[in-house]
Amino acid sequence: MARTILHVDMDAFYAAVEQRDHPAYRGRPVVVGADPKGGRGRGVVAACSYEARAAGVRSALPISQAWRLCPDAVFLRPRFARYAQVSEAVFSVLCRYTDRLEPLSIDEAFLDVTGSDRLFGGGAAVGRRIKESVREELGLVASVGVAPNKFVAKVASDLEKPDGFVVVQPEEVAAFLAPLPLGRLWGVGPKTADRLMRVGLRTIGDVARLRPRDLSGLLGEGAEHLVRLARGEDDRPVEPGAAAKSLGAETTFEEDVDDPEVVRRALLALADRVAGRLRRRRLRAGGVTLKLRDARFVTCTRSALLPRPTDLGDDLYREALALLARVPRSGGPVRLVGVTATRLEAQGEGTVQLGLFEAPGDGRRRELFRAVDALEARFGAGVVTRAALVKGRASRG
Ligand SMILES: [Mg+2]
Repeated sequence: MARTILHVDMDAFYAAVEQRDHPAYRGRPVVVGADPKGGRGRGVVAACSYEARAAGVRSALPISQAWRLCPDAVFLRPRFARYAQVSEAVFSVLCRYTDRLEPLSIDEAFLDVTGSDRLFGGGAAVGRRIKESVREELGLVASVGVAPNKFVAKVASDLEKPDGFVVVQPEEVAAFLAPLPLGRLWGVGPKTADRLMRVGLRTIGDVARLRPRDLSGLLGEGAEHLVRLARGEDDRPVEPGAAAKSLGAETTFEEDVDDPEVVRRALLALADRVAGRLRRRRLRAGGVTLKLRDARFVTCTRSALLPRPTDLGDDLYREALALLARVPRSGGPVRLVGVTATRLEAQGEGTVQLGLFEAPGDGRRRELFRAVDALEARFGAGVVTRAALVKGRASRG
């Protein structure tokens, strides 16, 4: 049966929250991210307002470059706790229309509103009401795409940002996709796009006209999937509860770091931060990924499964340290480290097994961390710091 899927995506979310909270920033370029330090700052842009985008600033751009492009922007450190709060308010609006809701990130979700015609007047009507509620109740702007499947809905929400609203009826899918550039296809990065362009393909419509085997020499296994997407065929259901598949944090050092002790301390702080986020979301991690970038910008990641699912910083840290030992190091000092918790599962799932494999002392450690979480919720992150992070060196086993 035909589905009606909405993709809802907040416009410039972090920056929009800052502009809403601080009227003085409205109409001005706002850049949320690392400290620019007068152009010498390290780290990247996390988000920026449309005024800043007009000057060429983009998210993930080095903050020093953003500073050069737009020196009179308002540069702000991110307030993640605040954005999470506002995100909850956004999701509580979305929940009114369906319980088949799949969050993709803090400011983005798929909704399956198939069968909403009688109650709400159909997908387009739901989309319009969501945009209105978000604007009137929260003072923010959402872009919405309405389509018969996830892929087309996501392309549609992005097409007329900001304040986009694009409805694609089932019979319009082919004509809607045909003129769009190849980069709009999921899984087609610049490299694949380049390969396709070299054989004369320019648009999604060009790919849709092919048979999968015409492309299999070029793309192998992926050919079939790509041709199907190009034809607007995508039957993946909206999966409620399939929230974040991973949770991570990373640090760019002020200066490249040679001292392994400093790297270890940074890993401990990151592991604690990620574990706190797991506990707040009532999740546990079944795996860890370590990311390391050296002074020559060579990035290396290593992943491992945990002996048992955890939401404790110590466990993540121990595994991250083991992974650190496996990273080939040729590029000299370290520029950036990151810790990501993977294979997330909701607490309560598989509780019996957790109980069985819980190590002695885990209960007390978890109580301690819960107390820390509660303090941080009241007084802000960082009020409680591990001795190992304060002392010159971490003496941890
Ligand atoms: Mg967004």
